[in-house]
Amino acid sequence: MTIPHPTDAFRATRIGILGAGQLGRMLALAGYPLGLEFLFLDPAEEPCAGPLGEVIRADYLDTAALDAFCARVDVATYEFENVPVAAAEYVAQRLPLRPGTAALATGQDRLSEKQRFESLGIPVPPHAAIDTRADLDAAISRLGLPAVLKTRRMGYDGKGQAVLRSAADVDLAWARLGGNDQASNLILEAFVPFDRELSCLTVRGVGGDLAFYPVIENVHRSGILHCARPQPADPLQTLAEDYCRRVVEHFDYVGVMAFEFFVVGERLLANEIAPRVHNSGHWSIEGAECSQFENHLRAIAGLPLGSTALRGHSLMLNCIGAEPEPATVLQNPGAHLHRYGKSPKPLRKIGHVTLTAASAAELTALQAHVEPLIGN
Ligand code: AMP
Repeated sequence: MTIPHPTDAFRATRIGILGAGQLGRMLALAGYPLGLEFLFLDPAEEPCAGPLGEVIRADYLDTAALDAFCARVDVATYEFENVPVAAAEYVAQRLPLRPGTAALATGQDRLSEKQRFESLGIPVPPHAAIDTRADLDAAISRLGLPAVLKTRRMGYDGKGQAVLRSAADVDLAWARLGGNDQASNLILEAFVPFDRELSCLTVRGVGGDLAFYPVIENVHRSGILHCARPQPADPLQTLAEDYCRRVVEHFDYVGVMAFEFFVVGERLLANEIAPRVHNSGHWSIEGAECSQFENHLRAIAGLPLGSTALRGHSLMLNCIGAEPEPATVLQNPGAHLHRYGKSPKPLRKIGHVTLTAASAAELTALQAHVEPLIGN
């Protein structure tokens, strides 16, 4: 899609996005008012950002496709954290890739991610690398049960993990996650009896300028985000910002980064980072002065960052597996429906609803009314 230029002098910054899922779609929706143009690269048949910009449909490692992509954009980013690092490196050798490849590579491996956090002085849950069944048995003796066995790579939305509640669960989980005695590439984490789950979204500009959104309290169901609600004046805001700052400065990061934490008392234990815009920040489209999507684009395009201040009270509910009837949601003042154009499939994120209200109490009441309409 080419935007007609208002004057000959107008020259849009062309943004290349590796991945064309719903995050790419919402990035483009935020970028068009700024006059940005978008080109996506994604192997999917009908990616949901397709209606928002041209998509080069190719494997991420197809170098001819990557050459075509690089030739047509000024700056590149990724919206999918499992883009092969080799593809990201190929792009980064040809034009600015923001954020860079180091954060991507680290975020793809739960073990190296935890080691990086520890090296930066950020507490993590007790864990052990599992390469063999003997490693698993030793780790269970050391960490105890319950514990969570996870694949190091490619896990998301609760996939690639199993909770071990008792010794009877171990064999099945080991088989299900592909355990073998060569190189299983698993990690065992102690089960954290957390009080809350929080995420903190940080945006860092090309010059190192930083902005933080208010921390977000997240409720998961079956390992999938269900509800995300920003917390004005949370007592853990300063600590979360400190940990985020350490990570983004370490990577000389440019763009939005999400950091997920378990809250245990006054402590934050690092769970994982996502080197991209994040599901727990979708409320920011309506609920912040500048959304996470616009701020990511501002950062990677070298523009000044926007305010992360809240506009009233808001929260987000995911639509998982099925869509609500649009009219039943939209008849509620303060309800904003986002449909991703994806076909419904069990456990698939196909849209979200943001609720906005003038006070925390009104927001909670609106949630009680709208949540049953969404039905997941
Ligand atoms: P993850 O993919 O690692 O973010 O895990 C998805 C969700 O599973 C988390 O948001 C938690 O709700 C839960 N979970 C993951 N790891 C642990 C853990 N070590 N202890 C307790 N709950 C966990």
